[in-house]
Amino acid sequence: MNKQPGTRGLIFNEPQLWDKSRKGRCAVSLPRADVKRCQLDASLVGESPELPQLSELDVVRHYTRLSQWNFGVDSGMYPLGSCTMKYNPKTNEVQAARQGFASAHPLAGDEFSQGALKLMYDLEHLLGEITGFPAVTLQPAAGAHGELAGMLIIHAYHAKKGKQRTKIIIPDTAHGTNPASASLCGYESINIKSGEKGILEPATVAAVMDEDTAGIMITNPNTLGLFEENIKEICEIVHAKGGLVYGDGANMNAIMGIVKPGHLGIDVLHLNLHKTFSTPHGGGGPGSGPVGVSKELIPFLPVPRIEKDLTRYRFVTECPDTIGRMHTFYGHFGIMVRAYAYILSMGGKGLHRASQLAVLNANYIKESLKDTLNLPYDRPCMHECVFNDKHQQVFHVTTMDMAKRLLDYGFHPPTVYFPLVVDAAFMVEPTETESKENIDQFIDAVKAIVQEAQETPELLKKAPLLTKVTRLDEVGAARKPCLRG
Ligand SMILES: *Cc1c(COP(=O)(O)O)cnc(C)c1O
Repeated sequence: MNKQPGTRGLIFNEPQLWDKSRKGRCAVSLPRADVKRCQLDASLVGESPELPQLSELDVVRHYTRLSQWNFGVDSGMYPLGSCTMKYNPKTNEVQAARQGFASAHPLAGDEFSQGALKLMYDLEHLLGEITGFPAVTLQPAAGAHGELAGMLIIHAYHAKKGKQRTKIIIPDTAHGTNPASASLCGYESINIKSGEKGILEPATVAAVMDEDTAGIMITNPNTLGLFEENIKEICEIVHAKGGLVYGDGANMNAIMGIVKPGHLGIDVLHLNLHKTFSTPHGGGGPGSGPVGVSKELIPFLPVPRIEKDLTRYRFVTECPDTIGRMHTFYGHFGIMVRAYAYILSMGGKGLHRASQLAVLNANYIKESLKDTLNLPYDRPCMHECVFNDKHQQVFHVTTMDMAKRLLDYGFHPPTVYFPLVVDAAFMVEPTETESKENIDQFIDAVKAIVQEAQETPELLKKAPLLTKVTRLDEVGAARKPCLRG
């Protein structure tokens, strides 16, 4: 297992900072005070917490060490399916950090925020152009938050029509957040199965769609990485019974410049700026999940909306049918700047090319590994492909064992045990930003691991072996969680 990206290096251990603390050490030199020293009134300041006393070098090494114990797209390939862990060009970070953007104050008022308002207004229109919707809100703070906004919009639409409906149809290839968002809005989820090809059959939808069903939530491309080819027909079936179609567009990275969901019959759709449009993600945020809607649903969009009168931009809150606010102020502005810079620097052609490459890379992996790992749905995929451990079961080696072993080969593991439609799924999304050499190295690593599964299965059971922390007792962690440091 040589010739893989370096996974061994100087990994330093470090005791707790309190153990390193020595009285009197201090990492900063404060200037001499030019006022008289006096004792603080302890009853006013309370008891001060005991902080470790460390030199500047101790502190620098501590944080540098922490950064080295971390793994991100900037350190290596991160093929986590359903997450689009692509490289985010640094220029977009630079733009977001510009003084005028970074220190814009949300209470400054429209008059003093014209640049920021213009950027948001233009970004709404660019995203509308990419997705095929006449209006977009940038407020929601994440994909799931966008879903909630979308569900509230669907709920408000039916309320306005005079009859509330109680159910939402959710296919087994939808993202797990979909039923959660529907349930938060008080809807009952009606689960349906995809057909043999891994996509939805119109007849399955027709069988459950009725006039008590508010609509359907479809992830497209779905969580198997397959395009829902019958989407237009499904939209017609749902619309014929007065329902609406929610599109989960978190997988937009596969179809930018190729398909406009708004033109397929979808009524509401969210995007994940922190997946497709250049915001680094992981660790829980912050994110941004803009929502695009069809013409009929514009009145229900969250407020404030941004409007342009001649050359001035302003926030508008007087919208009688709005679902209200989804976020304080207008969402996560820094992420909007990154998306705006990304879209302008890529251009329409560049985005189109990015999606083509994302799809090409996933298909290359699928074809290269389909004789190595089991591929339950053997057809052209979009931006990700899903394998499982069926061929390794005879050696008692699981998807989890192989995923853990990948760490020893210098790769972040792919998504495992999701989507649920595939038993013990091993879901790979290379994204467009990895080179062929990197992808080949990943393929070689998986092949080598599958070989090990046959020859030394007991070794895989203990993997990872070369990381700072080896196999964790996950059952123990769940049963006896240690919630304090
Ligand atoms: C990531 C993802 C979501 C949820 O997005 P968050 O920003 O994590 O809330 C929803 N649907 C799909 C298909 C996704 O991949």
